[in-house]
Amino acid sequence: MNLQQDLAQRDFKHIWHPCSQMKDYEELQPIVIDRGRGVYLYDKNGKEYLDIVSSWWCNLLGHCNPKINESVKRQLDRLEHVIFANFSHEPAITLCEQLLEVIPDGLEKFNFSDNGSAAVECALKMAFQYQFQTGRPQKKRFMCFTDAYHGETIGALSVGSLDLYAKIYRPMLMDTIRVKAPNCYRCPYGMCRDCCDAACFRDAQLAFEQYGEETCAMIVEPLLQGSAGMRIYPPIYLKKLRELCDRSHVLLIADEIATGFGRTGKMFAFSHTGVSPDIMCLSKGLTGGYMPMAITVATNEIYQAFYADYHEGKAFMHSHTYSGNPLGCSAALAVLKIFREEPILKNAAKRATYLSKKLQEAFGSHKNVGEIRHIGLIHAIELTPDKKTKSEYPSKLRIGYQIYKKALEKGLILRPLGNVLYFNPPLIICEQEIDQAVSICRECIDEVLGDI
Ligand SMILES: *Cc1c(COP(=O)(O)O)cnc(C)c1O
Repeated sequence: MNLQQDLAQRDFKHIWHPCSQMKDYEELQPIVIDRGRGVYLYDKNGKEYLDIVSSWWCNLLGHCNPKINESVKRQLDRLEHVIFANFSHEPAITLCEQLLEVIPDGLEKFNFSDNGSAAVECALKMAFQYQFQTGRPQKKRFMCFTDAYHGETIGALSVGSLDLYAKIYRPMLMDTIRVKAPNCYRCPYGMCRDCCDAACFRDAQLAFEQYGEETCAMIVEPLLQGSAGMRIYPPIYLKKLRELCDRSHVLLIADEIATGFGRTGKMFAFSHTGVSPDIMCLSKGLTGGYMPMAITVATNEIYQAFYADYHEGKAFMHSHTYSGNPLGCSAALAVLKIFREEPILKNAAKRATYLSKKLQEAFGSHKNVGEIRHIGLIHAIELTPDKKTKSEYPSKLRIGYQIYKKALEKGLILRPLGNVLYFNPPLIICEQEIDQAVSICRECIDEVLGDI
């Protein structure tokens, strides 16, 4: 038995992996990763894997990026952590000042936590308390999109809509109002996402007419519903939503956990819209995928609703042990420095054009590829048994999982979402690495679909 197999067996004895049917591991053992460099990971036997999913969308600038490594190492020798209530440190302070330069206008108060779901919980509680403390105690409910994903904790699941993650827990969850999300590939109005006026916004208007009065906030994944299958919708929708929220005193929460830090081609998805949310959730790319850290950023107006003499009891009594962790801040500072010093967005835009072209060549006329869509460097391929009807493969075939397993054999980490394959690589990927990924992807699709 080799080292990889030995470790995999020991892993299987004790580790309950995230988002996994552990019985699947009988057949597909965990791959024990030893080291990483750039877009590549290496297992214990030295086998190379191209990480086209950025290790769950968080690795932004490559594994073991020398500049981020250096920054974290330097911080490690000064201070690893300190209580963040009444204490602070320079990395956190500088980080907020520098984030202020890149986030949408109007957002200026930073509340730290340690993962994306926690940032969403924080946003929901903040919005609820804000409404209560500004004379709108009737606003107690949240609105979200159908097919939304905002994390796995109870509040985050409540504003999520994917049965796969939430269904069993429904009896524990909040009663949330769901607005039909834009679905451009299967647009009910027969429009196309690049030239429409968001006719589907009608659904939001109807929901606001009916429930606006009792709604405290609407949360969205801006422009990209990631877990739903990398569904992309146009900025015009968010502009209209901004107006509607303003008219109804409903706060707009942007979950930029997946879209932040250049993933959509601009620094943030909201940067495409010309408007700002009231609250923004950041995580994943924030630390380049190095450390578990998240921030919920709010407007000064929201902050002021909590700012009062202690006895008024208006404080936001919300905390996490690891709030503001200095190591996380040092990684995030290094990420922002790299964005300032290197043409990351410009290069990523070039790679996006290249990847679009390659995918078009490989799959443009493929009989089972319904749509190739992209925003920034994120590209998705929607598989369908029938391009005309846009029907879906039955989930029991586990098409995505079959492709995933094939790709792993060939050294590509491609983790489809149902029938949607996607590329969401570190922004520093190069053309030759793109070629390799597209070519393996093509082989896997043909081998798996050829067998059906
Ligand atoms: C990943 C993700 C989350 C949850 O973040 P965790 O760190 O996994 O808790 C929330 N919202 C979106 C849009 C995400 O992609």
